Amino acid sequence: MAWQGIEGHDGVAATLARVAERGRLAGSFLFIGPAGIGKGLFATRLAQALACRATGPGLVPCGRCPSCAQAVAGTHPDIDVVRKPDDRATIPLESLIGDAAHRMREGLCWRLTLQPLVAARRTAIILDADHLSTEASNCLLKMLEEPPDGAVIILVGTSLERQLPTIRSRCRVVRFRPLPADTVRMLVEREHAGETEGPSADDIAAAAAASGGSLDRARLLVDPDVAGFRRRLATLIAARPVRGVELARETIALVEGAGTEAARRRERLRLVLDAAVDGYRALLRLATAGEVPADAALAAACRDARPDADESVAGLHHTLAALAAVDRNANLSIVVDAWTSLLEEPRLRAGR
Ligand SMILES: [Zn+2]
Repeated sequence: MAWQGIEGHDGVAATLARVAERGRLAGSFLFIGPAGIGKGLFATRLAQALACRATGPGLVPCGRCPSCAQAVAGTHPDIDVVRKPDDRATIPLESLIGDAAHRMREGLCWRLTLQPLVAARRTAIILDADHLSTEASNCLLKMLEEPPDGAVIILVGTSLERQLPTIRSRCRVVRFRPLPADTVRMLVEREHAGETEGPSADDIAAAAAASGGSLDRARLLVDPDVAGFRRRLATLIAARPVRGVELARETIALVEGAGTEAARRRERLRLVLDAAVDGYRALLRLATAGEVPADAALAAACRDARPDADESVAGLHHTLAALAAVDRNANLSIVVDAWTSLLEEPRLRAGR
């Protein structure tokens, strides 16, 4: 039985429960692990357990008390969750310490100083901790050093390297592992159970295998448009020279197919670029070590055009740069145009 129904992180739950039973739970945590594996959900359930009036052994909340009901509804007055808005590159400072007119009279840091209303302590969860500006991080340092009144602060990020050393040193780091592919497959199957026109078992297995242990990623990959484009992308990037205009047109069509919401479009472009990174790495291994790509579409595409090591390195470099631009919230059409035109002449543009 998975801890509170969250698959894959029983080890973390058991460790935290042992520490809590000894009364030695830290006040400041930094949860680290790949995106889309359940760290945020784990943090909210931990907050529920810490707030519950009758938490059982193993940090399992009762699920019946008023505190649990409010936690589940997302309306608990002592549980605070802050995240990066989709249209911003960083977590706004005002969400931590209030806007200029209300400095330290609003925001998460201010609320942490108040007496808890229902629970024995306040809990603050900061999702997207990778996107804390230096200024915002500095505001948190004192809170992390010594959370007021037994409060618990949980930062959720994807890698330790993305956190400032001053933040890292003040938190108990808890590492979350990617989910096993079988677990991802089971969870995606469960979500599509009973659908007459849902994804096939093969598509789900392929998405789980390419998900890197992330349920969020697998959900995106089972989309039939995305699955089809990934196969097509193999041909587009293995071609020499790459036909940039075609690649740009098809990429933009897929991105726009995600709908009008900026965050979903960004997510789609990230999938394309991640697939291209995997593709270029496979092309490079083929060019340098003769290793035939495991991906069937890519292996077929390479039979027509032999990959070149320098071009593959340049393609990889340009694709990683495009990914970094997406993470900086750059305009997506501009990113796609720049990426695809650089791929057309990789040697020239990479300064070789
Ligand atoms: Zn309860």
